[in-house]
Amino acid sequence: MCRHLAYLGPPVPLRRLLVDPPGGLYEQSWRPRRQRHGTVNADGFGVGWYPEPYPHLPRQAEGAGGTGAAGGGRRGGTDGAAGSTGPAARPAGPDAPAGLVGSSAPAALAEPPGDDGFPLPARYRRALPVWADQNFGELARTIRSGAVLAAVRSATEGTTPDESAAAPFRDGRWLFSHNGAVADWTRLPTTLTPAELLALEAHSDSALLWATVGRRLRQGEAPGSALAGVVREVAAARPTARLNFLLTDGRCIAATAWGDTLWYRFRPGAVVVASEPDDVLGDGLGPWQEVPDRSLLLATTDGVRVLALRPERKDTL
Ligand code: GLN
Repeated sequence: MCRHLAYLGPPVPLRRLLVDPPGGLYEQSWRPRRQRHGTVNADGFGVGWYPEPYPHLPRQAEGAGGTGAAGGGRRGGTDGAAGSTGPAARPAGPDAPAGLVGSSAPAALAEPPGDDGFPLPARYRRALPVWADQNFGELARTIRSGAVLAAVRSATEGTTPDESAAAPFRDGRWLFSHNGAVADWTRLPTTLTPAELLALEAHSDSALLWATVGRRLRQGEAPGSALAGVVREVAAARPTARLNFLLTDGRCIAATAWGDTLWYRFRPGAVVVASEPDDVLGDGLGPWQEVPDRSLLLATTDGVRVLALRPERKDTL
């Protein structure tokens, strides 16, 4: 089982959230304290973070932080696919390096706004233990965000070992992580189309589960309802499945506890949801609270709700 964490609140360096806390996610990669399955999480890691302006914070003052995504406040209605702003749209001059000719710059260099006008999240994922990554320390020290989802991975047997299988998975403005395992997942009954199955980002139970959740989200289902629906569906077909999900769009966090541990801390304006608590005290957030197994958690910076998840109950979220 992996360990994961999501945060919404005032912008903080990733390091303060993930690396500095004793017992925090970084340390959980080699010394998790409450993990129910597996011993270390050394098969990879990933961090997803939202750039400014953060969807959950009031719009920053115009001009306060320069131009563009860093200080421009909400962008509305631009056509992200065409890349009307950002490097991809810049006509390449005669001296442009190969690969940047015309509009053929890698899509990741463009700044497509999400469908809500906010910039999409960025990810950094690797297939090695987080403590062995030469670059993560510098990124964690310098990247700040007010909306983050991160995970350390202990790969389930038979799944892709490379970084494509490291959470967070992404679809548009959504970031997702799965802590758990589904037995015989390649034969799990699915409503995904062959095209959707071929488009899975990795050969893993988590990638399959994410595609299933993602389809519900794209159909307009609320995040809590999408997670609960998939837990019920999969648990009916695979009663031993462990399905701790973590999902955010930078505004809200939805999570399930289904087979492994889940905790959260809250104060008005900030919330952390994590597989297990760290030892940070006195930072203004409330004490860690444990979420009972078979629960759905819904959080924003205004509050946290924990609801019992019953296998048979219809979604009313
Ligand atoms: N089954 C998922 C994977 O292989 C998650 C593993 C876990 O929670 N340890 O990545």
